[in-house]
Amino acid sequence: MLEERSGRAVRRMDERLRRLRRTEPIREMLKESRVHVSNLMAPVFVRDGEGVAEPVEAMPGINRFSVDKVSDYVGRLTEEGVRSVLLFGIPGSKDEAGSQAYSKDGVVPRAIRELKSQFRSLVVAADVCLCEYTSHGHCGVVVDGSVNNAMTLPLLAKAALEYAGAGADMVCPSAMMDGQVLAIRKALDGSSYEERLVVGYSAKYASSFYGPFREAAKSAPAFGDRKGYQMNPANSREAMREIDSDIREGADMIMVKPALAYLDVISKARSRYDIPLAAYSVSGEYSMIKAASANGWLDEKSAAMEVATSIKRAGADIIITYFAEQLATWLREEQ
Ligand SMILES: [Zn+2]
Repeated sequence: MLEERSGRAVRRMDERLRRLRRTEPIREMLKESRVHVSNLMAPVFVRDGEGVAEPVEAMPGINRFSVDKVSDYVGRLTEEGVRSVLLFGIPGSKDEAGSQAYSKDGVVPRAIRELKSQFRSLVVAADVCLCEYTSHGHCGVVVDGSVNNAMTLPLLAKAALEYAGAGADMVCPSAMMDGQVLAIRKALDGSSYEERLVVGYSAKYASSFYGPFREAAKSAPAFGDRKGYQMNPANSREAMREIDSDIREGADMIMVKPALAYLDVISKARSRYDIPLAAYSVSGEYSMIKAASANGWLDEKSAAMEVATSIKRAGADIIITYFAEQLATWLREEQ
C-alpha cells in the first residue's frame, strides 16, 4: 500500500501537462467548454416609427429597429444560426405608469407578432419591465419617491400577458420586484398560457456596466438610482436567496446579470441548482471590447470568444449577448 502510494506520488511529480497542449487537434479534443450557436440569445431593441434602423452610438454595430425593420436583422441572425432573441421596447411616448409596456399595440407585442409570423422556429423572449416605458425611468410605479412593489406587480403581469398573447415563448421579468415571477406565472396560468416559460432575472445587480444600454433604451432613471431593488455587487449569498425565491415562485429558468464581473455567481448558481441558467453579458461588456478593439488595444474576435467561453465555463447554459451575430459567424468559420 505504502509503495503504491509513494509510486503515485512520484508519477505526479513527473507530470507533463504541456503534452496535453502540444498540437491544435489535441487541444481541440481536450477542450472542456464549448460555446455553441444554440447557446446564444441576441437582445434586440425595437422602437416606434417606420423604416428605422437607428445606430446606438455607445454600442457600435447595434441598432434600434422599428417593427417593420426588425425582421431584416433577425433574418441575418437566423441565417447565422442564432435562433433566439430577447426583445426590449422603446415606446414613442412614456408616462408615470409605463402604460406602453402593457398596451396591446405597444412596440414589443407588435414585434413579437411580426417575428412569429416571419420565423417559425425562432424562440422569442420578451423582457418584462417598466423602466423603458416610465417617464421617471424606474422599473415600477413610483410613490413618494420610491418604487412600490405591490402596485408594480399587476402591471408586470399585464405586460407579460400581452407578450404571451402576441406569441412570446418566454417572458423575462427584470424589474427585481419581490414576487414578480409568481405574479406572472399566476397570470399566465389563469389565461391558458401554462406552456409559456418564465425566465427570472433572478440575480440582477445594480451595475455600472448597464451604461450603454441606457442610451440604447433611453431608460436612465430621472432621479436616484436602482440600488433600492437591484442587487449589491458585493453580494453572492444574497443572489442564491434571490434564485431560491424565483424557483419557488415558479421560474422555469434563472439568470445572472451582468456576466463577466459575476462569473463566481454563475458558477455558484450552477453548482447549487439544476434549473437552466442564463447569463446576460450586458452592454458595457460589449462596448468595452468594441472600444478597446477599435483602438487596436484588444483583438475583438479573440476577446469576445474568450469572454463567451468563460461564461460557458462558469456554468451558464444560455449566453445573452450583443455579440451573438458575430460569435455565430466566428463559430461557423472555425468549423
Ligand atoms: Zn427595469
